Amino acid sequence: MSSKRVLIVGGVAGGASCAARLRRLDERAEIVVFEKGPYPSFANCGLPYYIGDAISDEAKLLVATPELFRSRFNIEVRTEHEVLGINRGERKIQVKDLRKGSVYQEAYDALVLSPGAVPARPPLPGIDLEGVFTLRTIPDSRAIRAWIQDSQPRSAVVVGGGFIGLEMAENLARRGLKVTIVEMFDQVMPPLDREMAEYVYVHLLDKHVSVRLADGVVRISGSEGRVTSIETRSGARIPADLVILSVGVKPESKLAKVAGLELGPHAGIRVDESMRTSDPCIWAVGDAVEARDTVTGALCLVPLAGPANRQGRIAADAICGRPARFRGVQATAVCGVFGLTVAMTGVSEKRLHQAKETDYAAVYLHPTDHASYYPGASEMHLKLIFRRSDGLVLGAQAVGGHGVERRIDVISFAIQKGSTVFDLEEAELCYAPQFGMAKDPVNLAGMVAANVVRGDVRLANWGELPDCGAFLVDVREEEEFRRGSIVDAINIPLDQLRQRLAEIPNDRPIWVNCARGHRSYYAVRILQQHGFDASNLSGGYSTWEVWYPEGLPSKHIKTSAVEEHPSQPRAA
Ligand SMILES: Cc1cc2nc3c(=O)[nH]c(=O)nc-3n(C[C@H](O)[C@H](O)[C@H](O)COP(=O)(O)OP(=O)(O)OC[C@H]3O[C@@H](n4cnc5c(N)ncnc54)[C@H](O)[C@@H]3O)c2cc1C
Repeated sequence: MSSKRVLIVGGVAGGASCAARLRRLDERAEIVVFEKGPYPSFANCGLPYYIGDAISDEAKLLVATPELFRSRFNIEVRTEHEVLGINRGERKIQVKDLRKGSVYQEAYDALVLSPGAVPARPPLPGIDLEGVFTLRTIPDSRAIRAWIQDSQPRSAVVVGGGFIGLEMAENLARRGLKVTIVEMFDQVMPPLDREMAEYVYVHLLDKHVSVRLADGVVRISGSEGRVTSIETRSGARIPADLVILSVGVKPESKLAKVAGLELGPHAGIRVDESMRTSDPCIWAVGDAVEARDTVTGALCLVPLAGPANRQGRIAADAICGRPARFRGVQATAVCGVFGLTVAMTGVSEKRLHQAKETDYAAVYLHPTDHASYYPGASEMHLKLIFRRSDGLVLGAQAVGGHGVERRIDVISFAIQKGSTVFDLEEAELCYAPQFGMAKDPVNLAGMVAANVVRGDVRLANWGELPDCGAFLVDVREEEEFRRGSIVDAINIPLDQLRQRLAEIPNDRPIWVNCARGHRSYYAVRILQQHGFDASNLSGGYSTWEVWYPEGLPSKHIKTSAVEEHPSQPRAA
């Protein structure tokens, strides 16, 4: 039997994992990886921390060298070799040796494309000034480090408040720069629902990062070819000795497109469940491909390292004739921002809303990561989104300290397995006081949601609060109520509720809140059984503070900078 020749374009996350898996499955295959950059298999995810000096040794970013690929895996890695084209008829690729400038052809039996994505560069005036950077590669991060070292910038503007933008904000602040984030949407971290992103926004302000929301950069200005400031749509001019553009990535699908491979609706390469493209001899993986969203079934781009690595393995299995199927993506992601952990999985409420989906509900919880009596417990804010009719788990978002990512991981796997809120109620999870709670936040979220699906509790919709016409009852203690309350709510502490039912009208809906949604649940059960049309404001006053940070009405367009941030907690 002759050995097959597998060529791989792109030698980092998807490409490298595909190559290594191929070798484990087929000792005889000839495997050649083409990487246009100087390094294969480097840790893109570590780059912001290299810039921030949390990782100071660049060599630590190199996960595997060409020498290791050769000695351990018998894989040839050709760095600084760019693949220019694919001749599908002859099953050949055209390669340029970037060091020598020579161009040559290589034949393949199977070809794997893992060319990744390219950072978006909006056509802004001034974008080519020195000191304006995007971040994707080790040379990019080296250039940013050198700029910080040589030019001693004092201020930086990070354009885009998503994952990389927030990580860069933290790391530039760590290097002593005054950082401003400019974000076009009215929230940071756009994959989160707006109210969950509010926790991140407030945290950034607390860490002295200025944040301009609902504003966009229209011009980058400079002097003597070097950046000095940016101008925003709202007319603000912000000094900037350094600008990081982190406004998203585009799939690197040009090679595939020119070769006539099918693309999907988002310009990513179209693949089947075994990562095979529209050409039976070509597979594609990673940021360059479109994958099915596990929850919605729609094709989407999810440029994350986990899917790229898993898809690389699956393509290798498929090339070796094994049955292999990629289950889809659900955008499970985590980000650290100045000590705050932000994690999410599945679909957000705003996406369901945009899709005009109505069969869903969301509950909010604010549990501690471990038993509150054990030292060091920290609060987390958790939102669980589920199908109202049958309890199917659709998505979750969490922000807080320790243990946030663990809860999202559990819920992520529940989503992948098609689990319901009843499964979350029953999930058996690790518990000891320093690690969790006997009723883990995941169990609690399942229980709260299951109450809704079973019809034991009706949920009031936070978004409808300004026009709800409901009678608002706050069942916290008087002292808590005095410190701040939802506009128009009246206070009847839970323990007085049965004696004071006469104060509550029975001709209109009653919406009940407490601090975090626990006491109000008891109150709703009491009221329902006394014939009131009562609903729970899930998450209570803690959720109110992020839904309506400026109180009612709910207009939420902010362009605040750190100086404008109130130092006192907000109270309505
Ligand atoms: C700064 C940063 C931080 C990140 N942090 C995280 C994180 O914390 N968590 C997470 O899940 N994801 C993170 N990601 C995303 C993650 O790195 C990517 O999703 C993942 O690397 C995608 O793998 P890939 O193989 O598709 O592409 P890449 O890893 O980008 O590899 C593609 C390679 O192909 C090469 N290439 C492209 N075209 C050609 C060609 N024609 N010929 C030869 N070579 C070519 C490129 O040079 C590139 O090296 C981060 C990304 C960045 C940039």
